[in-house]
Amino acid sequence: MKITIHRGTNQIGGCITEIQSAKGDKILIDFGHNLPEGDKPAQDKYDEDENVLKLLEGVSDVYYTHYHGDHISFESDIYRAGVTQHIGALSLKMVKTLKQHMQHADSLKERATKSLEALEHFRIYKSKHTETVGDIRITPYFVSHSAIDAHMFLIECDGITVLHTGDFRDHGYMGTGLEKNLIANIVPKQIDVLVTEGTMLSRIAEKVPTERDLQQKTIDIFNKYKNVFVLCSSMDADRIVTFYQATRKQKPNRWFVTDSYQGEQIQNIRNNLTGIYSDICYGNILQKHDEVLAKMLENGFTMLVRNTETFKNLLKEIVPQIDMRQTAFIYSQFEGYITKGLPTFKQSTYDFVHSYDWAVERVHTSGHASCKTLAEVCNLVNPSLAIIPIHKEWDTDFASLPISSELKKKIVTKSMALEKENGDFINFEVKE
Ligand SMILES: [Zn+2]
Repeated sequence: MKITIHRGTNQIGGCITEIQSAKGDKILIDFGHNLPEGDKPAQDKYDEDENVLKLLEGVSDVYYTHYHGDHISFESDIYRAGVTQHIGALSLKMVKTLKQHMQHADSLKERATKSLEALEHFRIYKSKHTETVGDIRITPYFVSHSAIDAHMFLIECDGITVLHTGDFRDHGYMGTGLEKNLIANIVPKQIDVLVTEGTMLSRIAEKVPTERDLQQKTIDIFNKYKNVFVLCSSMDADRIVTFYQATRKQKPNRWFVTDSYQGEQIQNIRNNLTGIYSDICYGNILQKHDEVLAKMLENGFTMLVRNTETFKNLLKEIVPQIDMRQTAFIYSQFEGYITKGLPTFKQSTYDFVHSYDWAVERVHTSGHASCKTLAEVCNLVNPSLAIIPIHKEWDTDFASLPISSELKKKIVTKSMALEKENGDFINFEVKE
């Protein structure tokens, strides 16, 4: 068996992992686009068709851990190359909703239409259901992440067991199940190789708040401000639940307001999940404009917004009708986008956040495992041969985690071959 890390040992996002059996069966795990830096469009060598085709030589299937753009982005090229693509059922619905929405923008229409054609041919995998590609067995298990419906993969091939975590965390609403899941399903398989994300390695001392902590912080903000606009991802189910639950707990008749796209994503979440995810109620400001606006002005509101012309026009209409001393704007995304001087700084986002004289509040936590959690997962999974860190910054070191010296010796950052006691062996190739 051979594992090739085409991309990801030195960067966050755009990770591509290849698994090849001794007989030559070949699959990829994730194939996303490089993340953009600030306002500049992201550069990616796979924007050239020929590079995609070269990478896909001999590959029959691509399995996506989740729907973030740095994990799935080249689906139409991959579809045209005749490769089968796999993702979770809710992920597929949410990506389709996103692409349908993108079709409304002239500049995005062509790409979104091609993507929708590819998505029609996706296959859906189910958590805990093993699929087989030649000699490769692959079993997805649910993990909590800022994308709902994310999965880690257990891969069994040529006598070697691999756990590929994808992006994960344990401080989201369903994250508390991580340890139980690993103990029940992964540990008994005696993992040889752990391929894990390390997004938070540069923030080792940081105390990472949970989504529940954010809920309490938000209730405190709502107690101070009658009118609150919120900028957060429309596809982050946990974060939407945080703001919805805070809205209900602070004042039952406070209005929770969305536009049609956000409403559709909430419907996807409601229809496919249970518990706190299934009871999100919202007023659609675009559908029932006068009725919703009247209730907002009367009872106060939590309104999800995005940096678009539609919302800018809505703000132009709403802001003159509300008392700005009772109004706040919650920024609920990566701090680096609005921190001047950082390479990730986005002027357009900064301008949107500060477009009126409202109080700006920050309510956010990472979608990724804290260093404490990364160490716990390494210790628990305790791979016999190797730990391969991916989805990490180039200047971070997995050995800085509080893990045993024996585990530290197993960290693989360059190409090599390793053999098990019984003679089964694995080759690693680390590109870049
Ligand atoms: Zn992600």
